[in-house]
Amino acid sequence: MDIGPVKPLCMNQFNNQWALVTGSSSGIGWGIAQALAKQKINLILQGLETEDQVKDKIENLKNQTGVNIQYHSVDFSDKAKFQKFLLALPAHSILINNAGLQFVSPVQDFPIEKWELLLQLHLTVPFMLIQNFLKQKPSNIGRIINISSVHGLVASVNKSAYVSAKHGLIGLSKTVALETAGTGVTCNSICPGWVKTPLVENQIQDRAKKENISIEQASVKLLEEKQPSKTFTEVSDIAELVLFLCSPAGKNITGASMTLDGGWTSQ
Ligand code: NAD
Repeated sequence: MDIGPVKPLCMNQFNNQWALVTGSSSGIGWGIAQALAKQKINLILQGLETEDQVKDKIENLKNQTGVNIQYHSVDFSDKAKFQKFLLALPAHSILINNAGLQFVSPVQDFPIEKWELLLQLHLTVPFMLIQNFLKQKPSNIGRIINISSVHGLVASVNKSAYVSAKHGLIGLSKTVALETAGTGVTCNSICPGWVKTPLVENQIQDRAKKENISIEQASVKLLEEKQPSKTFTEVSDIAELVLFLCSPAGKNITGASMTLDGGWTSQ
């Protein structure tokens, strides 16, 4: 999905530099990647998909924007492969920790392997990428943006690992914000509510099947339960917020947890 035209922000401070966007083969990460490319920022992309699966859309984005794009097909649950990916990364000035997945189960039945996977993906990987970023960033201006969730601020049933990891990611962002304050690097969390991406579409499909209702009915139920605006947050809304945080106007925003949740966490 193309996120359409993106308003030019005063982004020249990152022109021709590199941004790493994890989990950028689909959904929110791909939307952020497009927005950054449209601001002339080179991209290091990563996802579970093979190079062949993403080749066409990456080629289109390259042709549209003229930026350089690397794609790494890496499963972060494989610690050796993650380490290899980490060592191969070129220096970058923007880091977007976005890769993620969901697994639901009551606490008493939650498989330990799934707990470990979700903590690895949502917390340990961002921690290691932040360490690497701070050691090798090329200039004295940098942006670290962690895609947390409303589940970094409040809980929902059956999401113990996701909620714990996303709360942890907000704690990590705040600590990094304090440690980097005044250095030109900022670190913030973005906390979306429901966004219609493959991650949420799977949850809608599961619900439709379980309750024997249509996909449309399951979508409405999902929104009505949690998101007072009763509309999905758009991928492009998140991408625009990332651009704002990367603009010079974002220089003194650090340690913040910014919600795009239609009022979810105000209840
Ligand atoms: P998505 O399923 O479209 O994208 C997830 C990305 O993560 C993909 O690129 C996938 O390849 C990658 N990924 C998944 N498992 C991986 C693994 N083991 N190793 C490496 N990469 C892996 O989902 P999305 O909705 O775009 O989610 C992106 C981020 O936004 C996630 O961190 C998610 O928790 C967060 N988020 C999503 C929503 C929502 O409603 N969609 C709401 C709040 C937060």
